[in-house]
Amino acid sequence: MRQSRLFTKIEKNPPKDEESLNALLLERGGFIHRLMSGVYSYLPLGLLVLKKIEQIIREEMNAVGGQEVLMPALHPLENYIKTGRENISDLFHTALGNGSKFVLGQSHEEVVVPLVQHYAHSYKDLPLAVYQIQTKFRNELRAKSGLFRGREFPMKDMYSFHLTEDDFEKYYDVVKKAYIKIFERAGIGGKTYFTYAAGGTFSKFSHEFQMLTPAGEDTIYTCEKCRIAVNDEIKDVHKNCPECGGALSGPKKAIEVGNIFPLKTKFSGAFGLTVKNEEGKEVPVFMGCYGIGLSRLMGAVAEVCNDQNGLIWPESVAPFSVHLVYLRSDDKNVRAEADKLYEKLTVEGTPVLYDDREDKSAGEKFAESDIIGIPVRAVVSEKTLKSASVELKGRGEKDFKLVKISEIKKYVK
Ligand code: ATP
Ligand code: MG
Repeated sequence: MRQSRLFTKIEKNPPKDEESLNALLLERGGFIHRLMSGVYSYLPLGLLVLKKIEQIIREEMNAVGGQEVLMPALHPLENYIKTGRENISDLFHTALGNGSKFVLGQSHEEVVVPLVQHYAHSYKDLPLAVYQIQTKFRNELRAKSGLFRGREFPMKDMYSFHLTEDDFEKYYDVVKKAYIKIFERAGIGGKTYFTYAAGGTFSKFSHEFQMLTPAGEDTIYTCEKCRIAVNDEIKDVHKNCPECGGALSGPKKAIEVGNIFPLKTKFSGAFGLTVKNEEGKEVPVFMGCYGIGLSRLMGAVAEVCNDQNGLIWPESVAPFSVHLVYLRSDDKNVRAEADKLYEKLTVEGTPVLYDDREDKSAGEKFAESDIIGIPVRAVVSEKTLKSASVELKGRGEKDFKLVKISEIKKYVK
């Protein structure tokens, strides 16, 4: 993409009341734009990041047999009356002119259970897992943490359905491993802990994936040996590491980037979702649910992958692989060579953001390149072309190296 055509600009003055680091970095770089607290637009650069995160999640959910669907955001209130969740605090309520009452989906148990009930009748139909990547609405009291806490935000939610509790537990472990992969692939594996948490009303425990950050709203205690953590809310139950029995270290601030949850028969029971077992007897279906907030994950990556100059995207979620920066010159050949390199890389499948702007100084271009945070910067100038080269620099590195244009593919994807 040619930066001269990019309609967004580096934001010199992000909203004054924006407190969170992730939002400040992302708004400054032109990745997102705030409409109101907790509600953001994803701009060209930001949408590329979000789509890469989405694709990582999709691949890992497909790999564990999840079948992708897309369910509605508008739900009938009566389904929530059935599950007793019509008064939960983060539900947005709305109504038709004729008085019919609806809510905006903050999660999809009330939709997915009747959906699966329509198709699954026998033990032969189980196990099954369906997931979606879809917009959630939550009436969050406080939405001051940028992408960490949206009132409207994209979430991946998967629901699994099993004949027995044992089968559910096996699958729960499979999804746990898929989640570990997702956070590793997104570049926050080193900071993310599988965390024992309280189970709400459905079961004794659930599990969260918590990423360490001072901006987090949760408090955890970690066991470095087992790479797991315990949420503060259940610390009294687990005074030591639940896996090795060793001492825990903390308290540490963290943000929940994902959650896996045993639902048991709470929702299948509410809707009367049963299947015939091998003996022909109707039995309740065991369920699990598995969520990841895509925007929260994007915010989490931004929150930890940066320096004082701006973002430092991991390659796996970076909007582009290379930031090709042309330094203005009176010699028209410089521009022509830069254009040529941009076209060549693009044709060869390397995602390039090309700073082809004529009205910016080298200093301005470098500062903006650091703010955006693409993993590799390649500078083309009069000086570099003297040796038919570009200056390559990793965003997180100090020094650049001169690389022959003919060899650039050795250094970029
Ligand atoms: P929290 O305790 O932070 O409010 P939650 O327990 O309500 O989270 P879940 O209902 O389990 O979260 O939602 C699944 C995932 O969706 C979370 O792990 C998180 O990644 C994300 N998520 C939850 N609420 C928000 C929000 N308001 N904005 C962005 N992402 C969110
Ligand atoms: Mg919540």
